Amino acid sequence: MSGRRTIIYDTTLRDGMQGQGISYTLEDKVQIALAMDEMGIDYIEGGFPLSNRKESEFFQRMRKERLRHAKVVAFGSTRKPLGKAGTDPQILALLQAETPTVIVVGKTWKAHVREVLQTTEDENLRMIADSLSALKAAGREVFYDLEHFFDGYKDDPAYALAALRAARDAGADCLVLCDTNGGTLPGEVARILSELPMKELGPVGLHFHDDTGNAIANTLAGLERGAMHVQGTINGWGERCGNMNLCTLIPTLCLKMGDEAAACANLNLLTGLSRFVAEKANIIPDKRQPYVGEAAFSHKAGQHADVISKAPRLMEHVDGALVGNERRVLLSELAGKSTIVKKMARYGDYEKSSEVVSRLLVELKELEEKGFEYEAAEASFDLVIRRALGQYKSLLELSNYHLENYKSAGTPAKTVGRLFVRANGNLLMGASVGDGPVDTLNGALRDALLPLHPFLQKLKLTDYRVRVLNPERATAARVRVFITTSDGEQTWDTVGVDENIIEASWQALVDGLEYYYNNFVANGEG
Ligand SMILES: [Zn+2]
Repeated sequence: MSGRRTIIYDTTLRDGMQGQGISYTLEDKVQIALAMDEMGIDYIEGGFPLSNRKESEFFQRMRKERLRHAKVVAFGSTRKPLGKAGTDPQILALLQAETPTVIVVGKTWKAHVREVLQTTEDENLRMIADSLSALKAAGREVFYDLEHFFDGYKDDPAYALAALRAARDAGADCLVLCDTNGGTLPGEVARILSELPMKELGPVGLHFHDDTGNAIANTLAGLERGAMHVQGTINGWGERCGNMNLCTLIPTLCLKMGDEAAACANLNLLTGLSRFVAEKANIIPDKRQPYVGEAAFSHKAGQHADVISKAPRLMEHVDGALVGNERRVLLSELAGKSTIVKKMARYGDYEKSSEVVSRLLVELKELEEKGFEYEAAEASFDLVIRRALGQYKSLLELSNYHLENYKSAGTPAKTVGRLFVRANGNLLMGASVGDGPVDTLNGALRDALLPLHPFLQKLKLTDYRVRVLNPERATAARVRVFITTSDGEQTWDTVGVDENIIEASWQALVDGLEYYYNNFVANGEG
């Protein structure tokens, strides 16, 4: 497969959101899209603009972001039976999303045409043709998702082929074969694709679900038979058992098949991207996930570790550093240091061998041991670096805080609290009443500091996430809190860890304010 360049199409933000327990805020979606762009993902499906406001707002927001590589794609379906594409709400919503690329889904399986659409097979073909032609006429790049393609083909190959031809003749830029129910096996994929007139059809894509655990195998089988576009999600999360996992497919293509997909140039960002999306979804990442899981390159101490130290190639199928992961047991000092040096770049050029980098590495390992995680809390990491470099300015020092929670029957619970902090040599008091402890601490901090620091007025907490770190030892469980703070234009994430949830929240809260203070205020104040 050398020299081929598979197109990577991500649907984390659309199909991926069908997964159980997965939801993202608008801001999460924007940040995930930007991270995927950085990774070199070719297409980012952003959602279904007709379905709700959050989805159409995403497209508006993305128009303001300058993407380096990726194209944003809006998703919709073919026009209604017997309707007109030019006035169909689906088609209009796709155009209003103003994305360079749109993807339309339509029926391929006759039983679905009759029972779900309740229309004729010929009308379904006209729906495909009209919908795609209208979007092509508006100058869009148009992909076509053939829903239930494999089941439809098994039922009636001639009709499935007619659906493919209707889409191709209407100008579709890629025909995506979907295994919507996820039950197709690799041998069937190979057979069906080898029966298709691939040359005549033009670019063909693949969309597999993992209901038999074969989404990756099916995708590889399809690529070997001439498909050139693949759809999947980060971490494989999606409806039911999930979608084809891009975190597994991308490194397989790049490292084992000589593929030149654009994402191959940024492969070392993959583990970070996987964990970033996990944090945003508030799902504990699967340790045993291929390539990017924490255990993917871990070795038990003893003989293995000894071989690993002498000849890692004998015990690992690829070098984990290539995907941004690291070997456990034997800490990969160099990988750790290069990450730190990269993050320090904005403060100057530091050598890996320098004293401050070694010191930071030790400190970081200690913090990670305690449960801190900086992949999705760059602002807290920035403060760690500033402290190490002596470039940190304290906004406040806590003297004490005191909170009381109260509730009377039939009314919502409230938290009342006060705190004393030192700032600019003064001891300041703040007090507040809030719906919960974090809200109250936030209010009390502002009450104390606003006269001194009016900039705090515009900072808002926009997200708060909690994770219990070692639930197997419930009595000593630590809690990790992530807080997102915004000044109305940008957002940044901070982290706190403690056995006490309020203390963990306090750390993340203060980091959120101090990050802004250090980066945008302190120098101006002199
Ligand atoms: Zn799907």
